[in-house]
Amino acid sequence: MSSKAVEAFMAQVIARNPGEPEFHQAVREVAESVMPIIQSTPVYQKARILERMVEPERAIIFRVPWVDDKGEVQVNRGFRVQMNSAIGPYKGGLRFHASVTLGSMKFLAFEQTFKNALTTLPMGGGKGGSDFNPRGKSDGEVMRFCQSFMTELARHIGPNTDVPAGDIGVGGRELGYLYGQYKRLVNAFEGVLTGKGINWGGSLIRPEATGYGVTYFTREMLARVGESIKGKTIAISGYGNVGSYLIEKVNELGGKVVTIGDEFGYVHDPEGISGEKLEFVKDLWTVYRAPARDYAERYNAKWVPGRRPWEVKCDIAIPTAIQNELNAEDAQQLIDNGCIAVCEAANMPCTIEAIHLFLKNKILFGPAKAANAGGVAVSGLEMSQNSMRMSWSREEVDQRLNGIMVRIHETCVEHGKTPDDYVDYVKGANIAGFYKVASAMLDLGVV
Ligand code: GLU
Repeated sequence: MSSKAVEAFMAQVIARNPGEPEFHQAVREVAESVMPIIQSTPVYQKARILERMVEPERAIIFRVPWVDDKGEVQVNRGFRVQMNSAIGPYKGGLRFHASVTLGSMKFLAFEQTFKNALTTLPMGGGKGGSDFNPRGKSDGEVMRFCQSFMTELARHIGPNTDVPAGDIGVGGRELGYLYGQYKRLVNAFEGVLTGKGINWGGSLIRPEATGYGVTYFTREMLARVGESIKGKTIAISGYGNVGSYLIEKVNELGGKVVTIGDEFGYVHDPEGISGEKLEFVKDLWTVYRAPARDYAERYNAKWVPGRRPWEVKCDIAIPTAIQNELNAEDAQQLIDNGCIAVCEAANMPCTIEAIHLFLKNKILFGPAKAANAGGVAVSGLEMSQNSMRMSWSREEVDQRLNGIMVRIHETCVEHGKTPDDYVDYVKGANIAGFYKVASAMLDLGVV
């Protein structure tokens, strides 16, 4: 899978970007897929396309001072990495999480560039956030933090420049405070953020979009091999916005989700999470920022501390939490337990070694930049609705989302099909995204 050319390229990337292992990992995954194309296409080599793609167009780092409820001054660090604007304004979420660093923002912005290209909508790639940890913060603290964060960010973004959205730790509440402050600063009601509330310029189905989209993508992967979600047991790891709506759609399609988890452990509920239990899960993180264990206590389900849900026997595994939450050991356990499909709902949740194992064992593997593109796709639809000052119905947005996920799947098959009819979706997604961004970059000259 790797080659001399990939190793030589990675040596440069690592030397130029020291201390950013997640960025190296994301670049390596793409380089492994596209290097053969670059080697056989002199125009890409001459234009140094891949070297340009790994260099952000701009990276902004800023101080975010705010005052906590005790009256003490706190200082966080804010980031916005504007990676690539060849096919549209920079687009990508904001993450508020203790793990946020420049390196993690760069990996996410790099991934986002290819993901956004796959949606077929005109969006470039970006990502931002802060090392602010929303767990345990009061509403007032979150608001003051968001206002301080936006006071600096506002000058760097705009509806035709850069359009942030939510990501881990940034949901409806945070987007509200961020948008309120932006509007105050620029004195304009404009589509500068997506994931907005429905009463102030948001799109229907945006909260559901990532979870629904992952389910649609999984359904397509299974359908291609004559399988379906109906009757399948599914393990997931997160329980935020993505996990909750994924469970909702899986239930609708006749599957059963039996786990959720967080950094402290996981819940196993063999009956499946549905009905009132699902309604409880929907608010658990998004509204209360409460631990997954609360579910186990309330519904008398099994709580397994300090472990990950990948040890539970399942047909399908869908990591929904954070990068590198599923390693080679977990992958081997899933394979040994008869798991047939793994679909990445979080960004880069599987390590490269885990991915290599899935591909070697011909497991259906849906990489994040294809499988979780539904969220940003509906963000793109929100931008269109904002530009037209119109609002589409639930059915219309959901139908468009479904159509986009079906087409992304087809594109991956087209570029990732192997002679034995297995589909390497990693290769398919990377190559298709690369072609689109690379050809736009060639057309635009050396910029
Ligand atoms: N944070 C989401 C992602 O990783 C959504 C980004 C967006 O809607 O701009 O794709």
